[in-house]
Amino acid sequence: MKFDEFLLEALRRARRVAVLTGAGISAESGIPTFREAQTGLWAQYDPQELATPQAFRRNPRLVWEWYAWRRQLVTQAEPNPGHLALTALAGFVPQLTLITQNVDGLHQRAGSAGVIELHGNLTRYICFDRRHPVSAWAETDEVPPRCPLCGSRLRPDVVWFGESLPAEALRQAATAARSCDLFLSVGTSALVQPAASLPLEARQQGAMVVEVNPKETLLTPYVSVYVAGRAGEVLPALLRAAWPSAAENGLPG
Ligand code: NAD
Repeated sequence: MKFDEFLLEALRRARRVAVLTGAGISAESGIPTFREAQTGLWAQYDPQELATPQAFRRNPRLVWEWYAWRRQLVTQAEPNPGHLALTALAGFVPQLTLITQNVDGLHQRAGSAGVIELHGNLTRYICFDRRHPVSAWAETDEVPPRCPLCGSRLRPDVVWFGESLPAEALRQAATAARSCDLFLSVGTSALVQPAASLPLEARQQGAMVVEVNPKETLLTPYVSVYVAGRAGEVLPALLRAAWPSAAENGLPG
């Protein structure tokens, strides 16, 4: 894979790098994105109609079981070379802020530290009415189970369509986007706000914005460099091209 020398030079010179990832980076780990058809039992459902508070109110059992299925996929999945390359990138640049819209925890499992999770994590639970964080509950036949503190139904600790993002995570992400000199957008359709505006804010502040995605997105016309390809192939190749010593440091191929 060949990259423009000016991209490699910008990467080597960057002091502060911000990275935004979306579902696409986990696709090569076998976790479907929202815009791919789902498989098996869930093929008939539209994820955008399950990942809402309205859907949970209407049919909490259905939403709970969909998340149980997704959680099982995530537990069985492994981080792929794209996740691992971003973990390695933190060792090559003075400051790296990794912001993700994913709820699968694969960046952390790949060894990335300080990941900003904009949309929560499906391995954590809160209750629907009062948002109490819950890690254990009495097993009964009821699905979803109930909050041990207030008795309301449990739900995954993720941000559903129409809900606000965690304020502190969003603040940190916006600060990183505004102060970086290079912003990397990986595997996101750039449709879901407010995450989609982060690369634009970076661009406005003069950062180079690089997009990695096999398909063009709404963001593509605004980026400095668009690299067409899969994250698991492009990111390790980019690191090896920018820092040939990366290959010797066990960067996955
Ligand atoms: P999306 O489903 O809207 O878009 C995925 C993007 O990834 C697309 O642009 C697609 O072209 C690209 N893509 C597909 N394969 C790729 C690959 N191998 N390498 C790089 N890019 C690839 O996802 P989104 O933008 O993250 O937004 C939708 C919402 O879906 C987010 O809120 C996110 O939390 C949620 N989601 C998360 C997961 C997860 O945690 N793994 C999975 C599905 C959906």
